[in-house]
Amino acid sequence: MTCVVCLEDGAGYVCECSAFHINCFAHFLARGHAECNICAGRFDRHLKAAALAFLCTRTSNTLGSAHHTTMTRKLEMAVALADIGLVSLAQRCLRDLISKTAGPVWIHSVSQVELARITYHDGQFVAASLILEDLLPKLVCINKRWSWLEHLESCTILGSCYFKMGRFTDAENLLLFVIGSYLEDRNACSRKVCKCMQEIANFCHSRNDFALACETHRVAVRIVEAEEIDPSRIALANLELARAELRAGDSALATVRFRTSIRTLRKRKHDTYARDALPDARKQLANLVKPSKRLRVKTWPEDC
Ligand SMILES: [Zn+2]
Ligand SMILES: [Zn+2]
Repeated sequence: MTCVVCLEDGAGYVCECSAFHINCFAHFLARGHAECNICAGRFDRHLKAAALAFLCTRTSNTLGSAHHTTMTRKLEMAVALADIGLVSLAQRCLRDLISKTAGPVWIHSVSQVELARITYHDGQFVAASLILEDLLPKLVCINKRWSWLEHLESCTILGSCYFKMGRFTDAENLLLFVIGSYLEDRNACSRKVCKCMQEIANFCHSRNDFALACETHRVAVRIVEAEEIDPSRIALANLELARAELRAGDSALATVRFRTSIRTLRKRKHDTYARDALPDARKQLANLVKPSKRLRVKTWPEDC
């Protein structure tokens, strides 16, 4: 395979259209490319983590571990490590960044938000909420656009923590505040608005308001469909909506939506997020279409 950067052989695919060597990929990532601008797909998360680890070591060796660039790389690497399941390693990197008082304020704050996010996904809701409750008053005092965005991000995660801890009123207040702020902001990031909408939908679900949960997921899908070019992200949002439709009792609509989403996701062979979502989605669809045993052996549920 030819590397798109150095044109030499021996490269591997990092998305469905481009192959890189790991160090060529590292330099490419250093220029701020978060996902492929040709196929609009996300990079393979294992290769991305490996390239960022390589880059972090190189930057540290050249500029020293206290340099701002090294700290930025370390932050990116920690997020990528968490994404491939190396949670404790990621947490160690972030705690290290947080303990350094000399670095830029934004690295300090973003590291705490990311640490809280990882801790939340690790199921430690109280620990995650403590990090954010400590950070929020500090973010409010910084009058910058980034701190405002991190403030909203922190409130989204904290709202989700409260939701898991059973503090429903606090969760609702935070999530409604976030969505209200996003809706007032013409430049709001559609992915974050979508994420917040999905959190609110989970919230409606927990109150057994399945119709409202469905409607909220539908709004999230509309936002994603209007703003995204990555087919996986659109299909993943549709999967969430299909699950909500199923809970609301509309299995006909859910079946169609599961089927079209799965057919999109199975084509995204180089997207680990798409690949990881397939088994559960197929299981749910199989429960809906109930294929005969003979068919089940030979055919995927979306083709039955
Ligand atoms: Zn190369
Ligand atoms: Zn690509």
